[in-house]
Amino acid sequence: MSVSVQMLMGTYFIGRFGSDEIKKNVLQPAIEGKKVTCICFTEDQSGSDLAGTRTTAVRDGDGWVLSGTKQWITNGPIADVATVMATTDPSAGLKGLSFFLVEDGMEGFSKGQVFHKLGTRGAPTGEIVLDAVRVDGDHHLGEETGKGLEYSTDILNMIRVMTGLAACSIADEAMKDAAAFARGRVAFGKPISRYQLIREKFGRFYAKYEAARTLLYRVACMIDEGMECRREAMAAKWFATEMCLEAVDEATRVYAGNGFCMEYEPQRFFRDARFLLSGGGTHEVLLNFLGGQMLRG
Ligand SMILES: Cc1cc2nc3c(=O)[nH]c(=O)nc-3n(C[C@H](O)[C@H](O)[C@H](O)COP(=O)(O)OP(=O)(O)OC[C@H]3O[C@@H](n4cnc5c(N)ncnc54)[C@H](O)[C@@H]3O)c2cc1C
Repeated sequence: MSVSVQMLMGTYFIGRFGSDEIKKNVLQPAIEGKKVTCICFTEDQSGSDLAGTRTTAVRDGDGWVLSGTKQWITNGPIADVATVMATTDPSAGLKGLSFFLVEDGMEGFSKGQVFHKLGTRGAPTGEIVLDAVRVDGDHHLGEETGKGLEYSTDILNMIRVMTGLAACSIADEAMKDAAAFARGRVAFGKPISRYQLIREKFGRFYAKYEAARTLLYRVACMIDEGMECRREAMAAKWFATEMCLEAVDEATRVYAGNGFCMEYEPQRFFRDARFLLSGGGTHEVLLNFLGGQMLRG
């Protein structure tokens, strides 16, 4: 998860809009793994609804002053640089949002609370606190202010594909692990892998896993071709995550009592999969949008 953030969300806007100097000082070391990056959308009162963004960016000569607290930031506790969404015009809602680059070591930059999480514990998550951090003009990442949401269209599609593929990976690992257990576990005189009701779990998984992967690769191709694919990306992410949640649940059932035990693998897949429900958009928000689009006629 840390590496995914570094490869996509943490470096995307720097690569797209950064000056040559920023690319040399930030992007190159990030690619080399010498600087850790993160992306900061979420705040205490603003998750799905970015119009609630309270972090402000105020003009100061040829630069900007940023103030606010970002929450739930993957890599936040170890970040050297952060791409931060802030509003330059709080009355403009979604049309006031822009991205800025801030760096650890700047006056007013600090790392707040580190969150103790249910899953994905390999990737540290926490707060980024900006107390009147002054950045130069070239740290505004974009051609125009107020276009942050528009600039996010492509990356949101990519995040959804990436989250969906993470769902496929977790599900695949969970079911392969469960298959190995099923082959070795004997009940009523034979391995439980020989029972039809156990086999059904793997049959259903295989079909849904292949469907999810096919859908995700199709959206990835659409992104590569520069095609509009917002709905397809949302649908693929939703489908893959639901497939994964079912798979990690079935894996714990194959293990039965041992699936409830912290000594075995299924509990970790079960916990990690919960993250997929918020990454790339909550399922309520995705389905609300997709359903609304269909019902519009
Ligand atoms: C492990 C982890 C890592 C994360 N990493 C990052 C990161 O690196 N950077 C970052 O910026 N954020 C990160 N996040 C935050 C994540 O993006 C948010 O959790 C997500 O956007 C949802 O926001 P929220 O949690 O504030 O929930 P809310 O948006 O407040 O939603 C609460 C509930 O209301 C529902 N809801 C909201 N709006 C609607 C609607 N219109 N219709 C129907 N239901 C609705 C939601 O579906 C949900 O059930 C991370 C979260 C987690 C768990």
